[in-house]
Amino acid sequence: MGISKTLIKNARIFPGVENGQAKPVIEAGCALIKGNRFAYVGPEEACPAGRTEKVIDAGGRLLMPALVNAHTHSAMTLLRGVGGEKPLEVWLREHIFPLEERLVAQQARAGVALAMLEYLACGVTTINDMYMFPEETVKVVMEAGGRAMISNACVDFGKGEAQLADALAFHRDYHGAEEGRIRASVSVHAEYTTTPELVKKLVRATEGLDNIQHLHLSETQQEAAACRQRHGMSPVQYFHHLGLFNGPAVAAHCVAVDEEDMALLAQDGVRVAHAVISNLKLGSGIAPVPEMLSRGIPLTLGTDGAASNDNLDLWEEIKLTALLHKGAGRDATLISPAQVLEAATLGGARALGFDGLGLICEGWLADCVLMDLSLPNTLPAHDIPATLVYAAGSRNVSMTMSAGRVLYQDGEYLSLDEEKIKTRARQSAGELLGRDFSV
Ligand SMILES: [Zn+2]
Repeated sequence: MGISKTLIKNARIFPGVENGQAKPVIEAGCALIKGNRFAYVGPEEACPAGRTEKVIDAGGRLLMPALVNAHTHSAMTLLRGVGGEKPLEVWLREHIFPLEERLVAQQARAGVALAMLEYLACGVTTINDMYMFPEETVKVVMEAGGRAMISNACVDFGKGEAQLADALAFHRDYHGAEEGRIRASVSVHAEYTTTPELVKKLVRATEGLDNIQHLHLSETQQEAAACRQRHGMSPVQYFHHLGLFNGPAVAAHCVAVDEEDMALLAQDGVRVAHAVISNLKLGSGIAPVPEMLSRGIPLTLGTDGAASNDNLDLWEEIKLTALLHKGAGRDATLISPAQVLEAATLGGARALGFDGLGLICEGWLADCVLMDLSLPNTLPAHDIPATLVYAAGSRNVSMTMSAGRVLYQDGEYLSLDEEKIKTRARQSAGELLGRDFSV
């Protein structure tokens, strides 16, 4: 048996965005997929002939790159909406941490599986997950057929050394698994949950390792002020001085950053995961995204966990990112639809170290979405990037594919058992929260 071939025909193809520029749409296009990569992308009449195992008639729908959720805590779906109307500090310490202390592996797995249903229905194939029980996350992502960078970020409440040892073992066991679909990350959770000693040890231990740092950074003014009090520096300066940004890094939030911080982020090549809805819900503030973009800081988008969002629908982040910074800055040119789409696709893929992911091009990984733009909310679609950002949403997603494999189509999951996952999620949430969610 040779490499399997799938043909997607009769599609409008939006290859994606690179360097802020949207690539031209290919009308009446087709995409030939060999194994897990695109072998041909272009007009239908030039498509190479030959036998294909599977033909998908796109029926004129739009084929675009699948989305990347660059900051999430998938298992927190079980805590969806817990501790609403509280600022970050109170929300974490009084509501989230006590519940997380009781969480067991099976429950975490149930939460991640529920999240995966949401990701696939939204067109997300790749996530950057930070949470306890990372082995459970690996299992679910492998079963679902997606991709992930996964970390159990180290915190230092007396067990920092053990956490670092666990993270290194996890990296050794899982990094590059499933033909590279799983990437492991040895990371710190945040400044306020770690000590300089632990950060230094982590930096030393990860030298020479293929590792991308994933941390929470300057999420609130309060965090930045407390860091200045403790260390005489902003969180960005602090981690820079400890050498954490010597290697590649994805920093979630970066709300409370000043000019000096942004200069350092740009200099160190740190990529920012903008979690706009979580920042708004927790009253954390608004990250200076247009300033970051103008300094060349690469942008990605993340939902954060479902306890502070409260869903994992990245299309909401896409629309809000495009709108909020224009309104807040009173300038309609501050961020373009193409820039936002790049952050949600190629920008995220690059930040997580997935090479050849994020564009629909020959030789690139076949992670893509079919968008039905014939629905009332997107008709007529005369400007594709603008239609996708301002008008479209997850309701337009009709097919999600990763590595050449269809995972979701017309409301059905092909790799996951939706009903079983929902039942387990209800049970697990009930156990954790002491409530009955069975009906
Ligand atoms: Zn987070």
